Amino acid sequence: MESQVDQLKVIFLPFFLAPSHQIPMVDTARLFAMHGVNVTIVTTSANALLFQKSIDRDANSGHQIKTHVLQFPSAQVGLPDDIENFNTATSLTDMVPKLFMGQSLLKKPIEQLFQDMQPDCIVSDIFHPWTVDSAAELGIPRLVFHVTSCFSFCAETCVEQYKPHLSVNSDTELFLLPGLPNKIEMTRLQIPDIPDEFNQIMILNKEAERRSYGAILNSFYELEGAYEELHKSNTGIKTWSVGPVSLWVNKDVTDKVERGNEEALKNHEWLHWLNAKESNSVLYISFGTLKKLSEAQLIEIAHGLEASGHQFIWVVRQKDKDQDEGWLEEFDKRVKESNKGLIIRGWAPQLMILEHRSVGGQVTHCGWNSFLEGVTAGLPMITWPIFAEQFYHEKLVTEVLKIGVAVGKKEWTTLSGKETKEVVKREDIEKAVKFLMGSGEEAAEMRNRARELGNAARKAVESSGSSQSNFMALINDQKSLKSKRK
Ligand code: UDP
Repeated sequence: MESQVDQLKVIFLPFFLAPSHQIPMVDTARLFAMHGVNVTIVTTSANALLFQKSIDRDANSGHQIKTHVLQFPSAQVGLPDDIENFNTATSLTDMVPKLFMGQSLLKKPIEQLFQDMQPDCIVSDIFHPWTVDSAAELGIPRLVFHVTSCFSFCAETCVEQYKPHLSVNSDTELFLLPGLPNKIEMTRLQIPDIPDEFNQIMILNKEAERRSYGAILNSFYELEGAYEELHKSNTGIKTWSVGPVSLWVNKDVTDKVERGNEEALKNHEWLHWLNAKESNSVLYISFGTLKKLSEAQLIEIAHGLEASGHQFIWVVRQKDKDQDEGWLEEFDKRVKESNKGLIIRGWAPQLMILEHRSVGGQVTHCGWNSFLEGVTAGLPMITWPIFAEQFYHEKLVTEVLKIGVAVGKKEWTTLSGKETKEVVKREDIEKAVKFLMGSGEEAAEMRNRARELGNAARKAVESSGSSQSNFMALINDQKSLKSKRK
């Protein structure tokens, strides 16, 4: 048993505003605690409700893990109580700047917490660049935690460095991303069109990453090892890929069902529905936590799914107060009666659904967590990128790993502000669904490759697997730094 003096004490600081940043960091914090580390996760009141029960369960089973809950300064920045992340924001245009402002006001109390707790290491989301200076002041390492892929970092760096998008004459002409391990071509419409103020934030974040001690990646070597090597050489810091963390940590059903939103999952209709279906016969459709699709797009999806003839679970975000969605209620009723489809409003237990034997494919917006969860479940995918690095992930899925097909989304959309008019047509959706869920040879090959990748993910987190070895190396590295400091 390790003495208290030798035990590592680590503070985890997630990006409070996006559930998709918190979810994998909480998984990783729990992983550290399972390996004897004393862990504190900094969070805010409404965000804590999303995962506190799992932390309490871990603590009750003997792990040294707790949350440190801060009051989000909602009133001060003009936000209603309980709106502390993008997922609960009722208007992104109005609330995103206020949410950022609220988070920045928490810097002082967090710095004070660092001083009071004197941790051995800070694991920080990339969106808190200032923690690199806090760690330097305390004379401890800052590890940046990545919630996205090395593939997208490398692609982004390539675009910044070589500016290949400036060499073409139109927004739809393909250009090559030079210097990547695979031949990747994109159009200007697929390259993130980041507003200036956000670009400034990203420049600071990346600069802080290069000054960090190292980076923890929720990825695994067999998935994108060549890109991990390239990212390491681009940033010049140590990296440890230790994922998929969710697969490693969420072993019991309660953890899986409650992950990410403990209160929203009282209803188990989905489970009864899936239990009655044949293996691999259901398609799961979800677009993550950040972006609501337009009504015109939802209508096309409904028609495309119905015309495909395949069975589906479709997660549709809650409607806005004054929105009339009579057509969706009609559709819901119709597909329920024909037993073809199930619509989940709000939050779905995605991890459990993807792992269910009846699910045979996923339509994904290519958020890194959803992608990894699909990979872990061994599922082929229809890619439907919307914004951020999702178009890069589409390339990873369709051209590098070859485990999916693109629905044909052409243009990047911003989270708030500029909207494109692009609506993916019902015929394209129908075609992609028929292809992926059908009996063609090409789809069968994709399914096989996806299954193999799922097996590789499981091996990575098993004893002597790549992620498990990396994780142990990371812990030993931190222990040796601590003993040198002593
Ligand atoms: N998620 C979920 N249920 C939902 C929507 C999302 O469990 O109804 C989880 C999903 O499993 C994933 C995360 O939320 O872990 C979404 O992260 P991702 O990176 O895929 O997308 P983002 O929300 O950043 O667009």
